[in-house]
Amino acid sequence: MNKLADLIEQELEAFAQAESKDQGKTITFARTVDIPRAVYNFRFFASSILHHTSECTQMDQMGCMHYTMRVPGGIAGLISPWNLPLYLLTWKIAPAIACGNSVIAKPSEMTSVTAWMMCKLLDKAEIPPGVVNIVFGTGPKAGEAIVSHPDVPLISFTGSTLTGQLIMERSAPHCKKLSLELGGKNPAIIFEDADLDQCIPTTVRSSFANQGEICLCTSRIFVQRGIYHEFLKRFVEETKKWKVGSPSDPTANMGALISKEHLEKVKKYVKKAEAEGARILCGEGIESLQLPTRNQNGYFMLPTVITEVKDESCCMQQEIFGPVTCVVVFDTEEEVIKRANGIKYGLAATIWSSNVGCVHRVAKRLQSGLVWTNCWLIRDLNLPFGGMKFSGIGREGAKDSYEFFTEVKTITIKH
Ligand code: NAD
Repeated sequence: MNKLADLIEQELEAFAQAESKDQGKTITFARTVDIPRAVYNFRFFASSILHHTSECTQMDQMGCMHYTMRVPGGIAGLISPWNLPLYLLTWKIAPAIACGNSVIAKPSEMTSVTAWMMCKLLDKAEIPPGVVNIVFGTGPKAGEAIVSHPDVPLISFTGSTLTGQLIMERSAPHCKKLSLELGGKNPAIIFEDADLDQCIPTTVRSSFANQGEICLCTSRIFVQRGIYHEFLKRFVEETKKWKVGSPSDPTANMGALISKEHLEKVKKYVKKAEAEGARILCGEGIESLQLPTRNQNGYFMLPTVITEVKDESCCMQQEIFGPVTCVVVFDTEEEVIKRANGIKYGLAATIWSSNVGCVHRVAKRLQSGLVWTNCWLIRDLNLPFGGMKFSGIGREGAKDSYEFFTEVKTITIKH
């Protein structure tokens, strides 16, 4: 695994170029986030697997001791989405093979180039033949074949909630073990005592990084009344500074969306919000996009900020998965917790406040698998990652992935 990490790292630039061309993300994002993280996934799990311990208990009155032993789960089916292609595929392959499984992995049909490039390195890295099998194909064909195959007892899936639900149905007759990392509609809660100098640029990034095509992106921003106008003015000013440009332009903050259909879907949400009486403060329909000639027909869109939108509106309830964020006002802690939780998803939330008591109280009550306070997207891979409610089932991370990709046995010895 360390050898494979080294080989990908040696070709980092070629992988980053391919990821950017295939997905539309900026070359800078691919170079600094996607590919380095794919490399790190292999290094991290190669070492973390060495440090797990098992449990042991003594039952002297029965003359027994018990201990746990873990064995590989078998063949793991791994299915990943298009937004962070190699990053998310390797986040599954690395722990699965570290635990001794073989895998059948399927990247998204929209972005499979870097997975194919990695295939060519498997032999060189001396990964034994048959351990990492990558199949290319669409969800309904290749994906369903993996999910409904009786000899694949584990399925780790990252993608939309709708597909996750379908996978649960298809797996049920086989009682498969499932790990599902699904959609999100993530709130940022900004209290009056927040450090706006840090909060505003980070919230622009959390809303629009990778064109807003990250499951952890912020899409509902709740701002306390006392700072609402100042926040909104500065947030829009900062958003307007974000450069949408050719994915190969190293100074661009945002590239192109994944497809024409997705771009149309995202734009439709902005239209719907307008029709419901919301105000569009910048972006789609307000400013025009300046692009180099060769990018004129690409699927680009400006980062868009919507306000005066109701909590029940589809823009506040449904996952848009694009560069669109809504900003609304709140008064009290109690109120904002209720409104932030008033949604079917529960993946990630962000709290901005300098009051540590408030941060703890709100973090505890938010229905969210991850809560960042005064920051965003800082991850320790040792700790659990995953969502509540419609955002998923199970967690991934050092210990959680180890537990998912192995079966535990309890062994009792009488002496
Ligand atoms: P998607 O559900 O359409 O596809 C994801 C993968 O599932 C693809 O490889 C696809 O081919 C496959 N697939 C589709 N139908 C299938 C079926 N019937 N059986 C088996 N496999 C099938 O999702 P997407 O559009 O590629 O990705 C975007 C979604 O992924 C968003 O909802 C986003 O929030 C979510 N996501 C979640 C996380 C997380 O960690 N929670 C991370 C990234 C993306």
